[in-house]
Amino acid sequence: SAFPSAIDPARLHALHEDERARFRVAHPACTALAARCQAHFPFGVPLHWMRDWPSPASVFLRRAQGSHLHCADDHAHVDFCLGDTGAMFGHAPPAVVQALATQAAQGLTAMLPHERSAEVGALLAQRFGLPYWQLAMTASDANRFVLRWARAMTGRAQVLVFDGCYHGAVDDTLVDRDPTHGTTLRRPSVLGAVHDHPAYTRVVPFNDLDTLEAALRDGQVAALLAEPALTNFGLVPPAPDFWPTAQALCQRYGTLLVLDETHTLSSGVGGWARTHGVQPDLWVAGKAIAGGVPCAVYGMTAEVAARLQAVKAQAPEGHSGIGTTLSANALALAALHAALLHLHTPQTYAAMQRAADTLQTGLEERLRTRGLPWTLTRLGARMELQFMPRTPRNADDVRAHAQPALEAYLHLFMLNRGVLLTPFHGMMLCAPTTTPDDIAHFLHAFDAWLAALLD
Ligand code: PMP
Repeated sequence: SAFPSAIDPARLHALHEDERARFRVAHPACTALAARCQAHFPFGVPLHWMRDWPSPASVFLRRAQGSHLHCADDHAHVDFCLGDTGAMFGHAPPAVVQALATQAAQGLTAMLPHERSAEVGALLAQRFGLPYWQLAMTASDANRFVLRWARAMTGRAQVLVFDGCYHGAVDDTLVDRDPTHGTTLRRPSVLGAVHDHPAYTRVVPFNDLDTLEAALRDGQVAALLAEPALTNFGLVPPAPDFWPTAQALCQRYGTLLVLDETHTLSSGVGGWARTHGVQPDLWVAGKAIAGGVPCAVYGMTAEVAARLQAVKAQAPEGHSGIGTTLSANALALAALHAALLHLHTPQTYAAMQRAADTLQTGLEERLRTRGLPWTLTRLGARMELQFMPRTPRNADDVRAHAQPALEAYLHLFMLNRGVLLTPFHGMMLCAPTTTPDDIAHFLHAFDAWLAALLD
C-alpha cells in the first residue's frame, strides 16, 4: 500500500481519542487512584513527570516480575520500557531479590564500607575494565560528582556535551545548542535555573569531529561528558570513526573523556565502550548496574585515580561537594554484588540480544511489507522506531523528523493491548526474560496498530 506522505492530523486525533476512551473503560481502578492521588500529590503522582505518559490516567503499578508487569486494574503488560533501563535485566531479578532480603535483615545503612567492598571493587574492574571505582546513588549524582572531580583535577572550568544529551538532573548538562550561532542556551524547560551554566558548558552536534575539535582547541575544557550513542534524543549511534578520533582529540587537548553508559550498558557485556574497544578516562553507569536498586558507579583509569587523590589531598579538610550519606550503603552494595555476579554475564546478554534480534526482524519485516519510510535503529538490546527514512546523525536530524502525535498514538495503542513502551520516545528494550511469546504479542499489537493507522 502506498504510504501517505503525512498522516492526516484530524484522523490521527480521532484515532487517538478512540484509544483514550478505550483506556478509560479498561482502567477503572487506575482512574480512581489517579483521582485519589490528586488530594496529596501535585500533578496527582509522587513525581511530576510520571504524569507525562500518554495515557488519560496514570497506570498505577501493582507488581512486576521478569518482563511482565500488572497494573492496579490487574491487566498484564509485556514491558519493553523496563524502567527506562533500570529494570533491564528483568523486574525483580531473583539473585538481587535474594541478596536484598539477606542484607536487609543485617543492616541497611551505616556510613561504613561493607566488608564485601573489596570483592565488589575486583568484580567492577573485571567486568568493566577500569581499575578504580567510586559509588553514588543515582546516575545523575555520579555525573555531577565526575564533573566536579574533572574540574578540580584539571583546573579547567568548561565542560563539553553533545546537543540532545541527557545525563540526568545535572544542571551543567541541561543546556541546548543555538542552531545559528553554535552558542549554549539554557534549556527553556529547566525550572529555577539561576546559575550561568551556558557560560561553563559548551554544546556541539554529535558525530561532528570538526566542531568537536574547535570546542576543545583552546584547552579550557575539563571533560567531555557523553553517551557513546545518544539514547535520550531518539537513538543516534556514533559513526564508525567517531569515537576513536574523538578520544584522540580529547587526549591532544588534555580533556578527560567521560562516557556515561547508564543506557548503553545494554549494548553488550561491560557496556558499549568495552565492547567497542574505546577506553574512556572515566566511565559512569547507574540504573541497571545493581539490578534496579538505587546505585551508581564511576570507574577511572589508574592515572585519573592518582590525580583525583592528589587533588583531594591538597584541599582543606571539609565538605568536598561529593557524597550523600546513603551512597554506597550496605543494601546497595549487596545488590551491586549480586548483579555483578549474576546479571552482568555473557549468558544474560546473549539472551537479551537473541530477543532483540527477533523483535528487530519482525519489525523490519513489517516496515518492508508495508513500504513504510521508517527506520529501526538498533544498539545492542535496545532499538528505536524512527519515523524517518534513515538512522539520524545528530539531534537536529531527530528534531527535523519528530512526529510526537504519531508517537503518542503508538504508545497508547500498544498500552491498550498490553505492551508497555518507553515514554517520550520510541525505544524498545529487551530483557533476558523477554520470551518469544512476549515478542509475538508485541508484533501482533503492532500489526493491529498499522492496520488501524493505514487500512
Ligand atoms: N545518564 C543517562 C544517559 C540517562 O539516560 C539518565 C536517566 N535517563 C541518567 C544519566 C540519570 O539517571 P538517574 O535518573 O538514575 O539519575
